[in-house]
Amino acid sequence: MERTLAIIKPDAVKKRIIGKIIQRIEEEGFKIVEMKLMHLTKQQAEGFYIVHKNKPFYQSLTDFMSSGDIVVMVLERENAIAHWREVMGSTDPALAKPGTIRHTYGFSIERNAVHGSDSPETAEWEINYFFSKSA
Ligand code: ADP
Ligand code: MG
Repeated sequence: MERTLAIIKPDAVKKRIIGKIIQRIEEEGFKIVEMKLMHLTKQQAEGFYIVHKNKPFYQSLTDFMSSGDIVVMVLERENAIAHWREVMGSTDPALAKPGTIRHTYGFSIERNAVHGSDSPETAEWEINYFFSKSA
């Protein structure tokens, strides 16, 4: 069993498709082991995406991620990290395969509906960022 961090981003929450995305998560065999609705401050969004701080899209991305409510979840399944990234599809919805969440619901390379961790190390760090046992 493996765990990954998933986020339903502000564009998808505004579109009122939380339910559709959670239904897909459950149909894919994930168990939701943690879940919360949040509205990140700009500073919290910057902290979460700190690995991208030198990218040209960092300011815009963190403005977007702090622009509205998000749903943060810990998902558990065999091969959870890779499987969730496959279900999400490519970062750019225009390049994502039909049937993936980003292809179906993404608006742009930035407003792409969902987040998923990209490695076991990242997953551990990201889960701890939102669900720290000591917080
Ligand atoms: P992923 O979310 O697929 O792991 P990255 O880690 O590369 O993608 O990027 C993190 C997030 O930053 C993306 O999900 C997207 O919201 C945003 N992003 C990535 N690349 C761009 C870009 N070229 N322009 C604007 N936003 C971007
Ligand atoms: Mg990433």
